[in-house]
Amino acid sequence: MEYTKQEIIRLVEEEDVEFIRLQFTDMFGTLKNVAITSSQLEKALDNKCMFDGSSIEGFVRIEESDMYLYPDLKSFTIFPWKPQQGKVARLICDVYKADRTPFEGDPRYILRRAINEASEMGYTFNVGPECEFFLFNTDNNGAPTTESFDMAGYFDLGPVDLGEEVRRDMVLNLEEMGFEIEASHHEVAPAQHEIDFKYEEAMHTADNIMTFKLAVKSIAKRHGMCATFMPKPKFGVCGSGMHINMSLFKDGKNAFEDSSDRHGLSKIAYHFIAGIMEHMKGMTAITNPLVNSYKRLVPGFEAPTYIAWSATNRSPLIRIPAAHGSSTRIELRCPDPTGNPYLVLAVCLAAGLDGIKRELTPKGEVCCNIFELTEEEQKELGIESLPCNLMDAITEMEKSEFVQEVLGNHTGTKYLKAKKKEWQEYITQVSGWEIDQYLSKY
Ligand code: ADP
Ligand code: MG
Ligand code: MG
Ligand code: MG
Ligand code: MG
Repeated sequence: MEYTKQEIIRLVEEEDVEFIRLQFTDMFGTLKNVAITSSQLEKALDNKCMFDGSSIEGFVRIEESDMYLYPDLKSFTIFPWKPQQGKVARLICDVYKADRTPFEGDPRYILRRAINEASEMGYTFNVGPECEFFLFNTDNNGAPTTESFDMAGYFDLGPVDLGEEVRRDMVLNLEEMGFEIEASHHEVAPAQHEIDFKYEEAMHTADNIMTFKLAVKSIAKRHGMCATFMPKPKFGVCGSGMHINMSLFKDGKNAFEDSSDRHGLSKIAYHFIAGIMEHMKGMTAITNPLVNSYKRLVPGFEAPTYIAWSATNRSPLIRIPAAHGSSTRIELRCPDPTGNPYLVLAVCLAAGLDGIKRELTPKGEVCCNIFELTEEEQKELGIESLPCNLMDAITEMEKSEFVQEVLGNHTGTKYLKAKKKEWQEYITQVSGWEIDQYLSKY
């Protein structure tokens, strides 16, 4: 919805909104906010609200820590799960520096840069995500566990699907916030769920993903459960991904569509696919940012491990759904919901555009289940693997000047440094698996 400042001021009064959260996102995709009372609203809408950015992950040095929040008026929403007297609303903000120029480390700014490049080429980038998550019990202290009484599977319904009531509440709340929910269902693993909402222009979708995660977690909590987007919370069952469905529109028409092609795709779409495949290894630390992300990207659990594409099979990295017309799209299947959505969409778009500019042709089409190919067959088809752990992904990102340019110097450097630290911390741990395997045997 497009609002003017005056309309927001009027809404806040009419709806009895007491608190307004000015939101932004840090480098690692964590939602941050400064709450103001309605008395400060006008000041905030005039871009006069300041905050100290020095303690935000990936933001600035102490000596230049004063930053401004510029609310995006379109993003005004009331949280329906909060008290309905003295309501809570939010505005998503852009981050500006003290000298009133955009802060280059703001993830929204990084995505906007890629979007501007697309629009110079005449394209609108449309994205629809499929967020998966687990709903687990909490313990007596209200702390999250990885337990659940749920034993349902793919597309099952109540009473086996214990999450049905909670999911229903999530869907209703999201709809009240203006989400168009296309589907929601139980996923493959016990206690795992998916809720799909309609595609939108990329910035709107990235904002939606942030809001979606907040809503899902808040509503689960209200039901005494905990929702987690952790990619692989349980060994031996499917992990949670966030497939990204993408298309470019030009002059209101889907530029990926060409009905004369055997897969219904245009040349632009093939170039876009090729661009993503070209840059995929360097992007993986962004699309799959955690140590734990790589425990999902293993064979046998519906997640991709190879850099390949297919129109007939669901196993590869990029799938061409059978949909036609305005729904013609490509689906990238490796991202998981812990990625910073602004950065994920920025690298995907920039990589696709690079494919278009360089007129790249995608290699690595497969029509069988890749996991059934032998290593030699994979080599012959030119199919490479995704990075197999976070350190591999960091090394690939470090090699990719392209990805670092998309992120900009500030974020590129800080991100790599933080991820190396995360890896170092992890690799020196002694895990339960090691104790089980080695303690008594040696
Ligand atoms: P799947 O078949 O992989 O389970 P879903 O039906 O769960 O796919 O989700 C499909 C997603 O693709 C939805 O978010 C939908 O809005 C989105 N989508 C549909 N058409 C387009 C398009 N032209 N561009 C981008 N996303 C699209
Ligand atoms: Mg789906
Ligand atoms: Mg579906
Ligand atoms: Mg799914
Ligand atoms: Mg999918």
